[in-house]
Amino acid sequence: MSSSKQARFFESVQRNFDRAAAHTNIHPGLLAQIKVCNAVYQMNFPVKIGDTYQVIEAYRVQHSHHRLPTKGGIRFSHLVDQDEVMALAALMTYKCAIVDVPFGGAKGGVKVSPRAYTAEELERITRRYTVELIRKNFIGPSLDVPAPDYGTGEREMAWILDTYQTFKGGEIDAAGCVTGKPVNQSGIRGRTEATGRGVFYGLREAFNDEKILKKIGCTKGLAGKTMVIQGMGNVGSYAGLISQKEGDVKIIGLSELEGTIVKEDGIDMEAALAYRKEHGTILGFPGSTTLPDRGDWVSIECDILLPAALESVITIENAHLVRAKVIGEAANGPVTANAEEVLLKNGVVILPDMYLNAGGVTVSYFEWLKNLSHMRFGRMDKRFNQNTYGNIVSTVEQLTGKTIGEKEKTILTKGADEIDLVRSGLEETMVNAYQNIATIYHSNPKIVSMRDAAFVSALEKVANDYMTLGVFP
Ligand code: NAD
Repeated sequence: MSSSKQARFFESVQRNFDRAAAHTNIHPGLLAQIKVCNAVYQMNFPVKIGDTYQVIEAYRVQHSHHRLPTKGGIRFSHLVDQDEVMALAALMTYKCAIVDVPFGGAKGGVKVSPRAYTAEELERITRRYTVELIRKNFIGPSLDVPAPDYGTGEREMAWILDTYQTFKGGEIDAAGCVTGKPVNQSGIRGRTEATGRGVFYGLREAFNDEKILKKIGCTKGLAGKTMVIQGMGNVGSYAGLISQKEGDVKIIGLSELEGTIVKEDGIDMEAALAYRKEHGTILGFPGSTTLPDRGDWVSIECDILLPAALESVITIENAHLVRAKVIGEAANGPVTANAEEVLLKNGVVILPDMYLNAGGVTVSYFEWLKNLSHMRFGRMDKRFNQNTYGNIVSTVEQLTGKTIGEKEKTILTKGADEIDLVRSGLEETMVNAYQNIATIYHSNPKIVSMRDAAFVSALEKVANDYMTLGVFP
């Protein structure tokens, strides 16, 4: 991806912003304030790699301080630049607003290709980056809370936490300085799968939305719908696994760095992930055909195209090739603003990133709340509920003279564990947000896309927050 292409990402976000803003009554001055990035911190630091020192370029951008802390993932990629991090930080502000997560938007980026470094070197880079953030007050449970993104995961979050605690050991809420941590290091159950699971809930809602179904000419429900996924990392793998297991979706194509495969009778996602782990490639997966070009995933005929790798992969050059009914933006910014115009003309429905992949930040919010409360969800009420439900079942048995089977009794009397509560909270969040966006989309014929509707929803909430703060009258 060229730097000029990257430069278009922030511009793309701003263009989408302007189009949606025209559908609101928000004061132009307030819109201008919402649109800009409040703070951009670019840093360069040396890290010892092998026998030499490398100067690493990195960023943390806080897009909006209307709510604190700010929140957003940290990306490790050789494509990172300031424009990209600014675009991603802006998307975080809108994303948090859409799912009613009370944070401002932020994003971090470190310009390294993780595959080019050993784990030890990556640890040194991550810890040094964290120190730079601490020095400038760009990290902290009440200031700015990073999370995983492309190229990072719970391992990096654990290094960040450990570094933060080393410097700020006396802070009682220090564990809330970062989310996406391993469960045994103040993380929360269900965070790793959260973005992918949220993608599944969003798709499920869209395929139950009669007006959307009429537009794309599809039958109700996800079962049997065909899906093609680009990127088998955190988001793509869980979105695929959960859509297949809980939604009965048929995955017919997978694309990764090494190429794209298709299998018309369906790919078992779990088997495909295991195959890639063992062989280091998806190519050669039993029963599959490899397409001539890696980029051919875009033109596979399917119901759902799921870009889950990086931004700007569906552009003006290939948008006309898309033969999907719905594009689910599991990744951030996979469809450029120019491409979207072509796709909308061709009747493709795009479920926008700022809604569809908001499951990650939603569960990060739950993790942060858990860290501040210093207690696992479900600890206080699980057994109490279990006993209450047990008493109800016994009373029903006594009153009816009938006995409920052991299996049914276990289901009826179950108290909620942390994972049950996290999944339930995530589902509730994604369903509510969908209804909110869909209501805006279906009720105003001038709003031509779900993205514009999502933006309108976000802008109104952020503007309202600014006015509540008294920043704007
Ligand atoms: P990841 O690093 O776990 O996985 C990304 C995958 O994409 C990798 O397997 C990589 O090999 C693959 N990939 C890269 N370039 C590709 C290409 N040209 N063709 C095919 N595959 C390619 O990253 P992730 O955390 O899954 O993030 C993916 C996207 O989702 C990013 O846009 C990220 O910003 C977004 N996102 C992530 C989260 C999260 O919780 N991790 C939350 C919201 C949004």
